[in-house]
Amino acid sequence: MSTIPLSCRIESLQSYYDFHATVDVLRLDLLHPVISGNKWFKLKEYITEAKKAEKILLTFGGPYSNHIVATAAAANNEGLKSVGIIRGDETRTLSTTLVRAKEYGMQLFYTSREAYKNKLIPSAVYDKYPPHELYVIPEGGYGALGVAGAAAILRENDTHSYSHFLVATGTGTTLAGIVSACGMQQQVIGVSVLKGNFSLQNEVASLLPQAKENSYGLLHEYHFGGYAKHNNELLTFMNNFYERTGIPTDFVYTGKAFYAAFDLLSKNKFSATDRILLIHTGGLQGNASLPKGTLIFK
Ligand SMILES: *Cc1c(COP(=O)(O)O)cnc(C)c1O
Repeated sequence: MSTIPLSCRIESLQSYYDFHATVDVLRLDLLHPVISGNKWFKLKEYITEAKKAEKILLTFGGPYSNHIVATAAAANNEGLKSVGIIRGDETRTLSTTLVRAKEYGMQLFYTSREAYKNKLIPSAVYDKYPPHELYVIPEGGYGALGVAGAAAILRENDTHSYSHFLVATGTGTTLAGIVSACGMQQQVIGVSVLKGNFSLQNEVASLLPQAKENSYGLLHEYHFGGYAKHNNELLTFMNNFYERTGIPTDFVYTGKAFYAAFDLLSKNKFSATDRILLIHTGGLQGNASLPKGTLIFK
């Protein structure tokens, strides 16, 4: 999956804020408007395998899933067919995410929440495609290949000088990739965007060698009510951050992660010599589900 140019860059926030530590942003959101940031990295090893085997990509997600639309776009880019198993019933008006996924040629199949939970593939899929033609990518890219892909986030950028990395965390695959690639002196902070998702600790640990156990920590206090939940405080923070820096964030992941970073900085949780890299994992397409005018940027 080399046809997408790697054009992310690291930006300093020093000229915008008076932080007592060094704070930079890794702009993975600039990679591609749809296959944004971490999703491209998480998918790339899966897609390499599927391409080798000449298979059809199949994956799972909700109607606003960044992973679904990223898989659709990446498949399209690579000349692969793709199938999306979508949680819940088909609605009369499709979410922007699903409209885009269809535009990229993804074929959508809907399943009940119950069937979705067990990641059952509807029989309608098998009516069209025999099982041996399908390459199944786990929901959110969770798994060893997702971790291997996400490790390149650190390896392909100049990240040696940082003491801390901070990243929004859903399944923990991206976090595990960053941890697997970080040095022994570096710490990774995962900001969980789900409410009370305490099993995340084990899910991340099971993706990593034991020796990395002390290289990361999870924060559970910045979910703003739960997955994709938000309030005025979060939206105001995102607008203010954009006004100062020109950097857009999304309300599901990066807005919450960056809010957490600012909160930790304001509480003096870092020392003056710390060098913190905030990982902007993209996800901006998700903002399309907000009412117009909520954010001062798109
Ligand atoms: C999916 C996503 C994440 C979370 O990645 P995980 O590997 O599931 O933890 C973070 N940020 C953005 C923008 C995402 O789309």
